[in-house]
Amino acid sequence: MNYLFAPQPIISIPIFGSGQTFPVRRIYCVGRNYAEHAMEMGHSKLKAPFFFSKPTDALVINPETIDYPAMTSELHHEVELVIAIEKSGFEVDMEQAEQMIYGYALGIDLTKRDLQNDYKKQARPWDLAKGFDQSAPISSIIPKSQVNNIEETQLQLMVNGNLKQQGQIKQMIWSIAEIIVALSKHIELKAGDLIFSGTPSGVSEIKKGQTVKATLNTIQLDLNLNFTVK
Ligand code: MN
Repeated sequence: MNYLFAPQPIISIPIFGSGQTFPVRRIYCVGRNYAEHAMEMGHSKLKAPFFFSKPTDALVINPETIDYPAMTSELHHEVELVIAIEKSGFEVDMEQAEQMIYGYALGIDLTKRDLQNDYKKQARPWDLAKGFDQSAPISSIIPKSQVNNIEETQLQLMVNGNLKQQGQIKQMIWSIAEIIVALSKHIELKAGDLIFSGTPSGVSEIKKGQTVKATLNTIQLDLNLNFTVK
């Protein structure tokens, strides 16, 4: 290829227990997938999941620090299970959806809540409140073959040692397969796609200098994310 300049490297995520990595294509996110979080955001139950996306290079893999982002004074954490897709699918059914999953990761959907609320009030798109640089810290990926029962796994997030968010995957309004079915009505999912599956209640502010510790307890092992906001 006669590129004008060197293309950005492929972003890829380490896979537990393997020398292989997972090359990332796109990032989609589900909004309001836990009833208590929807309520704390002032919404009632939806009839279908809705989606937004983040740029792929918003990922930061197993970070130790995150830079406090520009254009906000209210940075929020949303701890989420991330679904890693390894097979293509468009307009799939539940069974096909299950077969598209490679594995899972622990992710945080960092959000500029003040900016998001401001854009909402003005009925404008809130992309930049969600899809900014370093807005998607993520752990390594665990293959689904190594997780006995993903529904029973627990998500937890602490800020400076104080428990802020806790939830179980089985509390999600739309299950993992239902999310894939719904998203595949809009776009063809392909190998390398990631889906942030929504956050339990308890979202709150992270201030400069604070440390975030998040865990996805899969019974077999814990996926962890520990970073400080500079
Ligand atoms: Mn979210």
